[in-house]
Amino acid sequence: PVTLVWFRDDLRITDHPALTAARGDGPVVAVWIREERDDDGLGPRPLGGAARWWAHRSLEVLHGELEALGIPLLFAAGRAADVLPQIARGLGADTVRWSRRYAPASRELDARIKAALHRDGMTVHSHPGSLLVEPWQVSTGANEHYKVFTPFWKAAREFPTGEALLAPQLQTPRHDLYPRIDGLCDAGVVKDLDALGLLDGTGTGQGESAAARTPRWWADTVARHWTPGCAAALDELGNLSHAVDGYTDTRDLPADRHGTTRLSPRLRHGELSPRQLLQAVAQDPHLPDDDREAWVRQLYWREFAWHLTYHHPGVESRPMRPEFEVFPYEPDDDALRAWQRGRTGVPLVDAGMRQLWQTGWMHNRVRMVTASFLTKNLLQPWWHGEQWFWDTLVDADEANNAVSWQWVAGCGADAAPYFRVFNPQTQRERFDPQDAYVREWLGSQPEEEPMVDLKESRRQALDAYDVMKHRS
Ligand code: FAD
Repeated sequence: PVTLVWFRDDLRITDHPALTAARGDGPVVAVWIREERDDDGLGPRPLGGAARWWAHRSLEVLHGELEALGIPLLFAAGRAADVLPQIARGLGADTVRWSRRYAPASRELDARIKAALHRDGMTVHSHPGSLLVEPWQVSTGANEHYKVFTPFWKAAREFPTGEALLAPQLQTPRHDLYPRIDGLCDAGVVKDLDALGLLDGTGTGQGESAAARTPRWWADTVARHWTPGCAAALDELGNLSHAVDGYTDTRDLPADRHGTTRLSPRLRHGELSPRQLLQAVAQDPHLPDDDREAWVRQLYWREFAWHLTYHHPGVESRPMRPEFEVFPYEPDDDALRAWQRGRTGVPLVDAGMRQLWQTGWMHNRVRMVTASFLTKNLLQPWWHGEQWFWDTLVDADEANNAVSWQWVAGCGADAAPYFRVFNPQTQRERFDPQDAYVREWLGSQPEEEPMVDLKESRRQALDAYDVMKHRS
């Protein structure tokens, strides 16, 4: 008997319930598939450029880590509904295990694959591990899903999460497996990581595309800021308390390198589990309670985003508040491009967009300001900005990105009232009073004229909101 573990957004070996259970079954083979959506649109959202780069590097590390445990990691590309059963059959697997994923289009696909594997006589287990609370485990008194964060957080944090698991033990290599793996390679089903093309191909966004960058470009920019992979992630876990200490004072200051943890790409790609993070901060007696509480609350914003995503199919394009279907956005390629390139003439917005382009990451405060400026001052559809972030963020997350964009645009479940438009100038004065962040990304060149008048464009945004209310 052989167990196949299908890795997806869980590129780690510690606290990995599916891998631990598989090790208990007997010999294990692992696989990662670069997935294409099928004709019904089922499957995960195709990775954007920056996340592809991260995944490639992270998979190199995972390959080595699994190898050291005696577990081969295979790579494939295509529709998972075709590829996964082929590989399972080719290996003679009797059990398939994976960590659950929660976007409706992925869940539906997984259910179909499970049924197909059952028909082939295999046992299939889907495990938790990516979230602290399964999205269906908490509901309101009226037995509905939560639409507001605070009551969600009160209910969700009561859920026991259990202890994080250690990495599994080394397995004795099963030499009879290698001819079967060779057979899958010869048939072209299993490929080298490099042949998956994660580092090339065209982007998914409008305008300039992150994926069109050359490898040299990546090495000189985004790659200088990060070390993807679960090994480096564990080192960061060791330093977590340091970043959380003082969080209440520093979390909103974009110039402060250690003001937040920058663990979002680790969570996105599953190099660390949220349970490992929760445990690390819970076990440090020196952390001030208010910092710990404030940080854990943010961790539960991620849980909330997945709770909403699970219950709202199509969050990346469909507003959670249906009245926003008729919002009178004014799509304009030039305006979108100016924003993407950090050429709006509004310093905090431009600094943020350049930090994103250069590093694949942007500070949360500035994400809110840049998103508000695009959707309100420039009246561009929120899903255009969401798509750009999707293509350029190393932490681009199906739930966090879409839900946060909807929140800023005013059409999300728990959105602030539409008329609360961020003023990027006031935000700059409050959160970057010394101009350290703006100077870091814009240099000391003279400031340009803003492409729109902030007051006037705010008024137009409010007028547009009134138009929507009349239409709906
Ligand atoms: P910390 O402050 O150290 O927080 C720890 C962890 O909690 C984060 O790594 C993240 O997983 C989670 N978290 C923190 N804030 C939020 C939040 N507001 N919503 C959900 N989870 C949160 N986050 C992503 O992970 N991926 C995205 O694609 C993404 N897109 C965003 C788009 C917009 C327009 C906005 C306003 C926010 C977006 N966020 C996204 C949320 C947030 O900005 C990032 O999670 C955060 O900046 C990551 O930095 P950090 O790891 O240092 O966070």
